Amino acid sequence: MQQFSFKNRIASNYIITTALLILVVFFAIYSIVRFSVYVRVNNEIKTEVAEHLKEIEVIENCVLLIEEEEWKTSQFNKVEVSPAFIQFVDELGAMVEKSPNLKQKQLTYKANAPVNELFDTKLENISVRQIQVPLYQGTKIIGYMIVAMSLEDSIMVLNNLFTVMLIAYPMILLVLFLIARFIAGRSIKPISTIIQTSNVITKDNLKSRIPLPQNRDELFTLSHTINNLLDRVENAIEREKQFTSDASHELRTPLAVIKGTLEVLIRKPRNPEEYKEKIDFCINEVNRLNHLVDELLLLARFENQKQTLKLEKVSLNALFLDVISRNTTIISDKKIKCIAKFSKDYYVTTDAYLLNIIVNNILTNAVKYSKPSDTINFDIIETENELICSVSDHGIGIAEEDLQKIFDQFYRSKSNDHPEIKGTGLGLSIVKRLSLLLQIDLQIESEEHKGTKVILRFPK
Ligand code: ADP
Repeated sequence: MQQFSFKNRIASNYIITTALLILVVFFAIYSIVRFSVYVRVNNEIKTEVAEHLKEIEVIENCVLLIEEEEWKTSQFNKVEVSPAFIQFVDELGAMVEKSPNLKQKQLTYKANAPVNELFDTKLENISVRQIQVPLYQGTKIIGYMIVAMSLEDSIMVLNNLFTVMLIAYPMILLVLFLIARFIAGRSIKPISTIIQTSNVITKDNLKSRIPLPQNRDELFTLSHTINNLLDRVENAIEREKQFTSDASHELRTPLAVIKGTLEVLIRKPRNPEEYKEKIDFCINEVNRLNHLVDELLLLARFENQKQTLKLEKVSLNALFLDVISRNTTIISDKKIKCIAKFSKDYYVTTDAYLLNIIVNNILTNAVKYSKPSDTINFDIIETENELICSVSDHGIGIAEEDLQKIFDQFYRSKSNDHPEIKGTGLGLSIVKRLSLLLQIDLQIESEEHKGTKVILRFPK
């Protein structure tokens, strides 16, 4: 089916409204003209009635014209655009006298018609407006004076007016439709530009933007919004590309290390200690790879927002102690002392699994970046509006200029200064994303060589 274009739709809507409006105006004009024409005819007839009533007298049940000959001559000589026809009839309607301009014709007395009121009727084939004025002798009606005036001219004027309106109506509408269509076409021109530009923009050509129209109207806002959307899509694709290339680089590095170690190992026969040492090294690298893949999968899962939250009442005290006990091995390996003294039980409504991932990442970082035999403190404070949890270590700390960057994927602060501390640079980006998802305010305070404090604020 052929689509009705937008500009035609605008023009049609406009025309429907205009058509109704013009119809009302035409109807009003026609009614006013008709009313005026009838008022004129009515007035003329009433004047004639008044004039002729003066010229008659009633004697012995007979209507007599005072000056009959004079009356006839004056009627005959009258020059009028629409002359009045006058006729006298007796009380039964039989003709008594008539004006000469009636010639052979005769006005018809309508017994049913209301007296002294004007009505439309016919004089043979001519339309006339007529009045029947009763003539009295005392209180008795002895006849009628019928006065009529032709309506032919008035009807012709009204018919002409009607024909002109009938022809003008569709023509006006057609012209208005074409004008409206033209103006609508011009007004929506920026939409065509938007369509053209959108067609040009493909996945590989995200650089193009819609030129902004000069008027700051709705189309300006639309173009601006689409441009903003394109900016965001372009950024997202850019980030995705960067992430993919970083991820593949990170995955390739341990694989290359394992491959290199194994190639060196089989070049010549070795003693069992040497084999054990190299295989242990490779197992470590494989573990690292495993960890990296886990983190990448976790990130990808939240990137696609597939995770749905499972909110429940969670005991913060229990959750912290659980995370500490799960990391006992690395904590005791470094002889770290974890101090978690809570004055009471604190509860929050959140997703326990995701909060576990957050706290686990923060704790493993604290352990990793602490010096052996350091202490790590866990605190929970309650204020009027929030619960504030913090994990503080006394480790190597983070340089001030890196504090913003540590949430970026794969970013590791000064990793060359401490090559023995292994990491992927993904932990804090996962923590940040999950905190956003759980609406937890995340903050890191740190000073190089002094320590780091990670603060989580749970709104009540
Ligand atoms: P990684 O796997 O490298 O630990 P993260 O995303 O968890 O990755 O952390 C990013 C960087 O932030 C780390 O490389 C480290 O430089 C810094 N960092 C995070 N936590 C701490 C901490 N508790 N003490 C010192 N530095 C930290």
